[in-house]
Amino acid sequence: MTDCIVIGGGLLGLLTARMLNAAGAHVVLVERGGIFREASWAGGGILSPLVPWQYPDAVHALVHWSQQAWPGLVEELRDETGIDGELVRSGLLMTGIDADPAVTNWAQAHDCRLQSIGAADTVKLEPQLAENIGTAILLPDVAQVRNPRLGRALQESLLQRGVSLRAQTEVTGFIIRHGAVQGVTTGDGELLAAQVVVASGAWSGPLLRDTGIDLPVTPVRGQMIQFQARPGLIQHIVLHRDFYLIPRNDGLVLAGSTLEHTGYDKSVTAQAREQLVQRALALVPALADVPVVRQWAGLRPGSPDGVPIIDEHPQIRGLYINTGHFRNGVVMAPASAQLLTDRMQQRESFTDSGPYTL
Ligand SMILES: Cc1cc2nc3c(=O)[nH]c(=O)nc-3n(C[C@H](O)[C@H](O)[C@H](O)COP(=O)(O)OP(=O)(O)OC[C@H]3O[C@@H](n4cnc5c(N)ncnc54)[C@H](O)[C@@H]3O)c2cc1C
Repeated sequence: MTDCIVIGGGLLGLLTARMLNAAGAHVVLVERGGIFREASWAGGGILSPLVPWQYPDAVHALVHWSQQAWPGLVEELRDETGIDGELVRSGLLMTGIDADPAVTNWAQAHDCRLQSIGAADTVKLEPQLAENIGTAILLPDVAQVRNPRLGRALQESLLQRGVSLRAQTEVTGFIIRHGAVQGVTTGDGELLAAQVVVASGAWSGPLLRDTGIDLPVTPVRGQMIQFQARPGLIQHIVLHRDFYLIPRNDGLVLAGSTLEHTGYDKSVTAQAREQLVQRALALVPALADVPVVRQWAGLRPGSPDGVPIIDEHPQIRGLYINTGHFRNGVVMAPASAQLLTDRMQQRESFTDSGPYTL
């Protein structure tokens, strides 16, 4: 007998399923395509918003809780599965800006270590940066994970724990009786459970439309490119305005990302590639000699102010929603999954769920 059905095999679905399983529930996860192939695969894996003080406290509450949880989670997954999600504390070097008093006050109030770096020291920290890069702010504690590996580790962990994963199975609707959910319909027949979680990322809105709610979640395309550099070419995640570079352990450098409102079109464009290459070279001129080996796109579940919806459906008992994490779904995922699991298990949680209700 299934207790919970989770719809969506992205990070939010997998982590929610794992926490529900840990709470003793029998969980089935249903994924339309392959597990972990959409936004969660495409993301950069930075465990912080790019400019944290530009986000509301509701986002920060989830970010902060998750930042404490991530190292233990990656270690646990590595112990369980042998697959390393590569959590690296690279630090976030934000170039071309000064820490004004409002920023330092924010950092103090939010327990976020922040260092102001003079122009000469910025280039000492990252010798490959363009010479005229100027002053910077360093957030030394910001870490990153390697999304595809993390996804493999999570999938393996769920299988080991007995969570049933049904890939290539699309949920087409909900079975509702007397104001309560009783299961879902899929291309493969019905599945029954008293609790259903919609963690379907950018596709959550259309899935829920027939249940009488208009979810404020829309797809926002992000394109990235990847350079095959030598390990250590750059050490930090480097941000310049809204453009960033992420160095992986094996030398790959990710450059991203675009923010495009193109509906459900996930194709990549030559124009975005050219723009990302130019911005990368302007920041780190040595990348001119490094081949671009890959380009991809993902659809973020965009929401107003980036505040996710973590709530029960207002009219249908047992139907829950965990989506709308926009640009920060990787970093916020553990907290978001925990908050929803606590709610479903009627336990007290680490923060008030009020800001995340519909
Ligand atoms: C280019 C890019 C860079 C990013 N960088 C970062 C970053 O550095 N740090 C960060 O924190 N966040 C980042 N993000 C954001 C983050 O990736 C997303 O917020 C997060 O992955 C969303 O996860 P999700 O599980 O909600 O969605 P997804 O990973 O998209 O998963 C949703 C899943 O639901 C499935 N699904 C949909 N409808 C159905 C259905 N009817 N039946 C069954 N299955 C269904 C889909 O196939 C999909 O697999 C980035 C995103 C992009 C695109």
